[in-house]
Amino acid sequence: MDNELYLKYKKLGRGNWGKDLSMLKMMYMGLLNLRKDEETTPITEMLLNYFLEIPKARKEGRTIIMHPFNYGPEIFYAMNLVPLMQETYSVGLAPLHLNEPYLDITNKIGYGDNPTVCNAQRPLIGSYIQGVAPIPDLLFFLSTPCNSLAMTYQVFEQLAKIPTFNMDVPYWSYDKPGEFYDDKVLDYMINQTKDLISWLEQKKKQKLNFEKLQETMGKINQAREYILEFNELLKNIPCPANSLGGFGNFITMVTRGGTDDAVKSTKWLRDTAAENVKNGIAGVPDENIRIAWPYTHVFFDGDLLTWLEETYKAVVIMDILGFYQVLPHDVSTIEKSFESLAKGTLDFSMIGTCRGPIEYYIEFLLNYVKDYKIDCVIMPMQFACKHAYAMARVSSEAVREETGIPVFIFGCDPYDSREVTSEAIRGKISDFLTQVVL
Ligand code: SF4
Repeated sequence: MDNELYLKYKKLGRGNWGKDLSMLKMMYMGLLNLRKDEETTPITEMLLNYFLEIPKARKEGRTIIMHPFNYGPEIFYAMNLVPLMQETYSVGLAPLHLNEPYLDITNKIGYGDNPTVCNAQRPLIGSYIQGVAPIPDLLFFLSTPCNSLAMTYQVFEQLAKIPTFNMDVPYWSYDKPGEFYDDKVLDYMINQTKDLISWLEQKKKQKLNFEKLQETMGKINQAREYILEFNELLKNIPCPANSLGGFGNFITMVTRGGTDDAVKSTKWLRDTAAENVKNGIAGVPDENIRIAWPYTHVFFDGDLLTWLEETYKAVVIMDILGFYQVLPHDVSTIEKSFESLAKGTLDFSMIGTCRGPIEYYIEFLLNYVKDYKIDCVIMPMQFACKHAYAMARVSSEAVREETGIPVFIFGCDPYDSREVTSEAIRGKISDFLTQVVL
């Protein structure tokens, strides 16, 4: 990072953010220092600005709304709210293991344990008790992708007494004719989207501006087009992006979807991949293994994928979150914009693949393996993620039967380094790659 830019961001981050934002401030400074010696990308700048927006909004009296990692913030931006994706905090602490003391406090006060409730969100409760969890003005969450998330958000809602809107995401398909199709799904989601907007209008005492909504939806469409192209480019051999490329799209859409920042970041990712394809440049030099990772990362081990790249010349094409699959939609009218918001919710990363019968996930995984010419599938798995835990074995059998590709499922807690250590994980993956794949 250019020194002048570094000093600018350092200065912007100074001052008192407030006790409940103290951990966020630390994360901001950590990110800035981590990127100090790297070339600055639009994603780095976007994330730094995203963090800065929270204390700024607090000072200016703007409304901060917290939402989970499985909902795009476009409607919040269209209504001039300041979104804070909760897991930026509770999962963002994991690479530095700063979530672990709060997991211990959460245990101590008796709110669940890891096999029952996922550690992706549990630090929120322990850190709230310590007074350092961010307190938004409003809270929003959905019934998917898991009961675990919905439960922890409800506990937080009750503890912090925050006005909350909860959305129910239905099971069935809205667009694919067949046994899982139900023509009521889309209307059900559109109605809930309108209910959410009415609730926000009431809380903000301000009506939704239709022009602003359409402008926002136009921007989200543009970003979705870039992501579609990026996802297509990743089918090339060698893959033109490294193992974190796709995750860049996810973090962009879940934090800044519907803004110019998101258009800029997704375009940059698309352009970089396209340029690499044109010049025959691999995201992982001398690519030797193409891995499908149809689950989340092991968040406590930020170097795991780099280790895979360096040790085995292996590229993880995309994780399940990075595989953003929402299509651009017709947003030419207000009704169409509501429809697009509803479809965006139903198809969001991890929602589209996990909100219904196991067939949705199996289809996703089989297409992923075939379309991206995958050599093997690797899935970390934890018992707390009950729906994924149940799907993993069945879908791995489907992959083996239909494609003959080996699948490796290993147990660990992606948010707690103390359950299965980095060394143990690397050992297991090494055994699989050397003894089965290579
Ligand atoms: S890892 Fe599974 S259980 Fe945890 S938040 Fe994600 S979907 Fe829910």
